[in-house]
Amino acid sequence: MSAVETTTTQITVPDTRTNLFGLDRVGLERFFAEKLGEKTYRAHQIMKWMYHRHATSFAEMTDLGKALRAKLEEVATIVTPTVVFEKPSVDGTHKWLLGMDTSNAIETVFIPDKGRGTLCVSSQVGCALNCQFCSTATQGFNRNLSAAEIIGQVWVAARHLGNIPHKDRKLTNVVMMGMGEPLMNFDNVVTAMSIMRDDLGFGLANKRVTLSTAGMVPMIDKLSEASDVSLAVSLHAANDDLRTSLVPLNKKYPIADLMAACTRYVQRKKRTSITFEYTLMKGVNDQPAHARELVRLMRRFTNELQDSDAAKVNLIPFNPFTGTRFERSTETDIRAFQKILLDGKVLTMVRRTRGDDIDAACGQLKGQVMDRTRRNATFRKSLEAGRAGGEGDIDAAA
Ligand code: SF4
Repeated sequence: MSAVETTTTQITVPDTRTNLFGLDRVGLERFFAEKLGEKTYRAHQIMKWMYHRHATSFAEMTDLGKALRAKLEEVATIVTPTVVFEKPSVDGTHKWLLGMDTSNAIETVFIPDKGRGTLCVSSQVGCALNCQFCSTATQGFNRNLSAAEIIGQVWVAARHLGNIPHKDRKLTNVVMMGMGEPLMNFDNVVTAMSIMRDDLGFGLANKRVTLSTAGMVPMIDKLSEASDVSLAVSLHAANDDLRTSLVPLNKKYPIADLMAACTRYVQRKKRTSITFEYTLMKGVNDQPAHARELVRLMRRFTNELQDSDAAKVNLIPFNPFTGTRFERSTETDIRAFQKILLDGKVLTMVRRTRGDDIDAACGQLKGQVMDRTRRNATFRKSLEAGRAGGEGDIDAAA
């Protein structure tokens, strides 16, 4: 390069302001007190603007006063997920593909039903647990979602629906059953669930927020101490050999350990029950012998708790996706399986398939997961070493 030649390099300055999405009531109160020297009620005003009125700019928040709004512009932002596309299904189900960063996107699905509207929310970009019948698993794992990215999914759906907590409620339930294993992203999920249940947030009753796990035993105990939500367990088989072949995590946390953790969860939270999800796959886990085995397992569980209502079984007909080796059970087998459970006094529902035409049915969420190979390998290694479950492991893997 000659002495007179110059080059220009564009440097993008990262936005260091705090995203107020993702701070629960305690976090926001602290932010207002420590960063702005403001009273806690200011935090409450902001929550109402964000979650009840779907505001995303401080300029809209007219009851905050000009000076405070200017201060907020300097130190805070409200960043919501980008809607990459959305797709309504003929049955009323609605799916969003939400951009989380420049290369990754996750899926969120709203399922309306008689008198209720359930949102299925993702907790990770992809998933490392590799359940054999799951479409998300084929995408591998990239990273945990932040609390802002988790609650952002609820916000996008609530705004679309015109949901106003306590007034015009269209979103009545949230299930953490989308992409990812929520208990592997513990802190962010617990924070987001606290905003879902806060009156200043989405105001959902505790029992209307459900976390579904593939069986992260130690984290089930931790959850019972940290949060007050409903628990669902992806069971899919009632013996260890079969379950390990379907849910590899079972090798680390076998059924006996899982059921013991479920027992402790119910004992700590009186008047709660656990939903056991059982995806029915043709010729794999849908035969009468499997059903009888499941009855015995559920009986042992409810007998131990001396509460016949402590377990519910949700039968989910498998939703095929491209490349899977599994098939959906026949209607006759599904009904026969349910009858054995009902005859065995196990509360059992067959979940109706929804959003089939837009690939939004259970187990079909895929999103766009990029740059995952190395993270996958590192994450699985940390899981095997018994270290995974906190954000640090995943950040280290990134
Ligand atoms: S079923 Fe759930 S835990 Fe298993 S791979 Fe799929 S998203 Fe992960």
